[in-house]
Amino acid sequence: MLEKKKFYINGKWTDPFISNHCNVIDPSTEEAFAVISLGGMEDTNLAVLSAKNAFSSWSNTSKEEKIFYLEKLHAVYQKRIHEMAEAISFEMGCPIDMSLAVQAQTGLDHIEDFINQLKQFSFEEPFNASSNNHIIYEPIGVCGLITPWNWPMNQLALKVIPALAAGCTMVLKPSEISPISAMLFAEMIDEINLPAGVFNLVNGDGQGVGTYLSGHQDIDMISFTGSTRAGKLISINAADTIKRVCLELGGKGGNIVFADSYPNAVRDGVRNVMSNSGQSCDAPTRMLIERTIYEKAVKEAIEEANSIKVGLASNKGNHIGPVVSKTQYNKIIDLIQSGIKEGATLAAGGIEKPDDLKTGYFIKPTIFTDVTNEMNISKSEIFGPVLSIIPFDTEEEAIEIVNSTEYGLGNYIQTEDRKKAHRVAKQLRSGIVYINGEYADVGTPFGGYRQSGNGREGGKWGLSEFLEVKNITGWKS
Ligand code: NAD
Repeated sequence: MLEKKKFYINGKWTDPFISNHCNVIDPSTEEAFAVISLGGMEDTNLAVLSAKNAFSSWSNTSKEEKIFYLEKLHAVYQKRIHEMAEAISFEMGCPIDMSLAVQAQTGLDHIEDFINQLKQFSFEEPFNASSNNHIIYEPIGVCGLITPWNWPMNQLALKVIPALAAGCTMVLKPSEISPISAMLFAEMIDEINLPAGVFNLVNGDGQGVGTYLSGHQDIDMISFTGSTRAGKLISINAADTIKRVCLELGGKGGNIVFADSYPNAVRDGVRNVMSNSGQSCDAPTRMLIERTIYEKAVKEAIEEANSIKVGLASNKGNHIGPVVSKTQYNKIIDLIQSGIKEGATLAAGGIEKPDDLKTGYFIKPTIFTDVTNEMNISKSEIFGPVLSIIPFDTEEEAIEIVNSTEYGLGNYIQTEDRKKAHRVAKQLRSGIVYINGEYADVGTPFGGYRQSGNGREGGKWGLSEFLEVKNITGWKS
């Protein structure tokens, strides 16, 4: 059993004030493989104080020195990337090949991108050539960073790295379900000798450390990724101190498949939902199919879902692993049952575990057809390998259905008609629109409209979130 009971505070591995242990479960076996501590108010206060004390020095550190530390971090991360892939695979059940090639790799990609962003970013600029005003970008201060379990290193890197680059100091609280990758990241920070107090990590749950951070008077900003439910609680708790709250929340992506889509569009759409066992905030979980190709497309979708293998996270290959926890498993099974009760057609998968996987939180790739927009399964974020298929007749109707949820994170369009793709993309109310399955480049902005959040992570947009803007008049004379 891996023992990871300390916190990383002020450059040292520190014992918690009160011993309160929590097992970390391997979702493939349902067995504990590690133990951590859940912190309390004293641990949070100590970490915030250490970040506060480190702020005046780190915020005045030169760009060159920050780049020096980030480049060292990049080298150490690259050296230990296999350990990172294993940690993620164990803690959240991502199959090991995907864990290395995608989950762990995204951390490295973001470090590299933010180094480039920092090199190009100008922290001072004249308002315009004739003006006597001067604009300065300054780090916002001490940040509380709260992350989820589904893409643990992606989310962590999208917060910690731009915060460091901006000159902020921080307290990270990773998900208590997937804390081991974050503990490994803290070891890397220790290995590069980052000045003490700039980065601190306290494990804990939402009601404890998460809430202490969002309400803390010495925290200037909370950057949160997680559920819309928790995002609302954080906003309310942060209101008293008027801190900046950047939220990256849930989604219910729509994928409009027009009759003139490319040949593999339906199959790719199914793979995209099931990838990471359906646990991606921008997964295209509602597939809207133009009625003229509905029957053929449904057949393809079912075939594709049935061809996706489910297996242990430790197995090599491109199968999907378990979902993260018993709580998530039960929630997903309840939602599948609610779809059946509501009268949608269960066309693939269902509530039974795969034959050879009775232990572990495994769910078969599941497809509902004949789903209507009123059904719960087409409104709620299921966050599991479940796709709802909805027919549509006109472009306007498809846009209306996609925009009818409370979310607005990632939506998708499949058509060979570029003009139509552009027209529809502009009308979809979401922070990102993927045309014909094209990936988003590293360094592009990621975030949501409406209840999917209010911030943008990645690239120069992600860096700007951690900055205050100051105008100074009378600069030249
Ligand atoms: P969650 O909201 O339960 O937990 C996320 C984090 O918030 C955890 O660290 C948790 O301990 C903490 N937390 C929970 N309640 C809190 C509270 N009241 N105050 C402070 N902190 C609190 O979410 P989850 O189940 O870990 O993650 C899945 C969710 O994250 C999904 O809804 C998914 O769509 C969303 N997500 C969004 C993005 C994005 O970029 N928009 C990316 C990944 C995941």
